[in-house]
Amino acid sequence: MAEGKYVYRFDEGSAQMRDLLGGKGANLCEMTRLGLPVPPGFIISVEAFREYYRLERRAPEGLWEQVRQNAALIEQTAGRRFGDAGDPLLLSVRSGSKFSMPGMMDTVLNLGLNDATLEGLARATSDRRFALDSYRRFIQLFSKVVLHLPASQFEEALAQARKRHRVASDAELPEAALEDVVSEFKNIVQRLSSSPFPSDPWEQLQLAVQAVFDSWNSPRAVAYRRHHSIPDDLGTAATIMMMVFGNSGWDSGTGVCFSRDPNTGERALYGEYLPNAQGEDVVSGSRTPKPIAELAREMPPIYRQLEEIAGQLERHYTDVQDIEFTVERGKLYILQTRSAKRAGAAAVKTAVDMVDEGLIDRQEALRRVPPLDLSQLLLPRFEPRSRENAVREGRLLGRGLNASPGAATGRAIFEAEAVQETAEEGDTVILVRPETSAEDVPAILKAAAVLTSRGGITSHAAVVTRGLGKPAVVGCARLHVDLPRRRMSVNSKTIREGDEISIDGFTGEVFAGHIETMTPSISGDVYLERLLAWADDFRRLRVRANADTMEEALQALAFGAEGIGLCRTEHMFFDPDRLPYVRQVLLYAREAAQLEREALDAQEAMMVTAGAAREEAQRRMEAVKERLREDERARQYRVALDQLSHFQTRDFREILRAMDGKPVVIRLLDAPLHEFLPPHDSLLEEVTALRITGRDPQALEEKERLLEVSRALREANPMLGHRGCRLGLTYPDIYEMQVRCIIGATRELRGQGLDPHSEIMIPMVMDVSELRALKANLERLVQELEKDSANAAPIHFGTMIELPRAALTAGDLAPEVEFFSFGSNDLTQMTFGFSRDDAEEKFLRFYVEKGLLRTNPFKTIDEKGMGRLIEMAVKEGRGSNPRLEIGLCGEHGGDPQSVDFCHRAGLDYVSCSPMRIPISRLAAAQAALEAGERDV
Ligand code: PEP
Ligand code: MG
Repeated sequence: MAEGKYVYRFDEGSAQMRDLLGGKGANLCEMTRLGLPVPPGFIISVEAFREYYRLERRAPEGLWEQVRQNAALIEQTAGRRFGDAGDPLLLSVRSGSKFSMPGMMDTVLNLGLNDATLEGLARATSDRRFALDSYRRFIQLFSKVVLHLPASQFEEALAQARKRHRVASDAELPEAALEDVVSEFKNIVQRLSSSPFPSDPWEQLQLAVQAVFDSWNSPRAVAYRRHHSIPDDLGTAATIMMMVFGNSGWDSGTGVCFSRDPNTGERALYGEYLPNAQGEDVVSGSRTPKPIAELAREMPPIYRQLEEIAGQLERHYTDVQDIEFTVERGKLYILQTRSAKRAGAAAVKTAVDMVDEGLIDRQEALRRVPPLDLSQLLLPRFEPRSRENAVREGRLLGRGLNASPGAATGRAIFEAEAVQETAEEGDTVILVRPETSAEDVPAILKAAAVLTSRGGITSHAAVVTRGLGKPAVVGCARLHVDLPRRRMSVNSKTIREGDEISIDGFTGEVFAGHIETMTPSISGDVYLERLLAWADDFRRLRVRANADTMEEALQALAFGAEGIGLCRTEHMFFDPDRLPYVRQVLLYAREAAQLEREALDAQEAMMVTAGAAREEAQRRMEAVKERLREDERARQYRVALDQLSHFQTRDFREILRAMDGKPVVIRLLDAPLHEFLPPHDSLLEEVTALRITGRDPQALEEKERLLEVSRALREANPMLGHRGCRLGLTYPDIYEMQVRCIIGATRELRGQGLDPHSEIMIPMVMDVSELRALKANLERLVQELEKDSANAAPIHFGTMIELPRAALTAGDLAPEVEFFSFGSNDLTQMTFGFSRDDAEEKFLRFYVEKGLLRTNPFKTIDEKGMGRLIEMAVKEGRGSNPRLEIGLCGEHGGDPQSVDFCHRAGLDYVSCSPMRIPISRLAAAQAALEAGERDV
């Protein structure tokens, strides 16, 4: 078999070749083509990576020959040879997959050093200290990344050297100290691995490439991919490049800069650098870097050149760039550029600004902003008064760098393993570390926020938390974090593991104790408002809110809701003021329904019989009516229904007033009835205790009655039980009461000159017979209540589609109603047979982690299974009722991927919680843009 081409020079590739060369490699090629100062190098392709794994971690045939040929080209350009003891060329090996995974995979620097090339480097640079420093860094990094030796012994040896020479940082260690460190490092390698440190540069290179390939499957890389839904089979390329040294003196340095501020989107060079340092010093957070503005003072020509290149790259890619650079003895090199990860606010501002600057059009601006990032704009902040109190009480501990926005209060946890435990106990966790490394990623995923005492705004902690939308404060130098004792101290205060702290990722402030947080609103954010207005121009799907109170309705309106798609009336019954009345109603509802049925039977008998039988039927009917009128419990039942009706009318009036002119879908009661009763077991205990003491007969009687009802209502599978329309059919008074309230509130507002649009939705329907039976009764009631309304808009009836049978018989249901609304929560539950209350916690996580399911179906619509039910119901529903309006009101209505599906399935609207409305508006626009592209 002919051997493949596995290696590409920088001048052979381009930005379009991300799949083959990885993002980093492709961009290095593009920058080389643009004539930017990129060190010479080449890329081992993702195809080589795939072959390597296919051959069970062996290099494919011809790979190393191709590497050698290409290295020779670097040697020519650099004028130095790899492994040359006279004046050695040194190389770096870096990972890079199609999607950037900052810090998740490995890098090896200073490859090619050994005892002989060390001397060559010392001579060529006339700087033996620098050569030794490079050598010790190489051994340290290579041992960790390639030989997988524990880092602690190397760190300990360095710490000892610093102590011996009484210096605070490694940069201050004298030459003689580094000489000792290098020899100690070699001893450590020999001791730990039972073999000497590999000295052959070509062997070093091969081992490093394999280690970079292997790091694709490191636990942190796997965890990162899971979180960001990056497929495991994508693979990584490896980039090999001539080393340039930011640590070759005070006219050198290294840094990271963004063409715009990744937190705010401000249009100015943003970033940081460290003079006389290598890249690892910046990203690891081991030294706190200087803001990039200082480079303008320290090296003005370099700053100007960097500014120019950042602008050029931004215009070229029409996107904000995140650029890594190194200055070697006064010469600037660009080592990497990529689209910058940015906080939600920056994503919105830069997208809007770039439209104004003519760099992109509005469609592109809409595509650029990940919808879920908008929730960051609505991130919690400290409640101002609570913060002021904390300051007044002297709880402000210090200020670090505001690395990722948002505010959080939680328990300080110092060890990654403890984060998981504490988070599982339900407590909010703030991970506190001197600095974070990529190994901490799983803990960061679990924590609500991160605080570090060292590191800069481009450290791992900052980059990762920004991407996750979690608050982070880094480089808070006043904190002394004592990991072994799991505590931190600042001035005279000590915070122990588990103590509450609060951090503000907007300002960098760190406080002891609890501070209340609050969630802001979007109005006033001109950038977000403009972007969402564009989204509204492009989207076809309408966006409504799930709201049960006036406050939620007002919030939904502020976020741009076009109506209420789901008002869950059972939520109005849980209020403690109302619960006693609900119970009163439940206590008698069965009996009342039974008596109503008896009265009806008697009435029917009267109609079909004569003589004595007829008289008997009449007597029966009057006796039943008498009972319903006079019985004390029946009276209490009516009073309770009246009370509930009073509350409900008020609720509906408030919501309908807030939503004046917009549709409000009110769903009739849908909750398993036992939810309104105290837990059966505790009732039983109380009754037993009251029986034993015999002291309070009245209380005993009441509890016994509750217990009896609780027994009667208790179900083995409440989710499959007496809920939704089944309840409406068996206890008709409740739905009737609700419909009276809806019409009452609607008429009252109409009388005030408003324009209320109430729609009535019937839940849990499985067959058209249920719908017909309920509608016959309720529609008659509506007509009766509306009979004197001259030109009132008709009240629409609709049904939820939340049972597979409803979806399968949608063609029968549709002619009976004006609208369908998919209850995708229940539909998921019933399609999968996964209890919505238990599955996620019990086994669903396992399913997703093990890849048995790609995503959690309660979060993102399962297109393959449930999606087919939806599509079928849409088709058959519209087939038998072309005017049918169709929405979706489960939690999926706020999930961008599901919104995209709803667009494709031809729904008219989605309904989601108020906070998700901006997300769904943008997702709906993206879905329309995407569909437009496909149609072309
Ligand atoms: C649903 O099932 O998707 C729905 C919206 O109803 P609920 O969540 O109230 O059961
Ligand atoms: Mg439901």
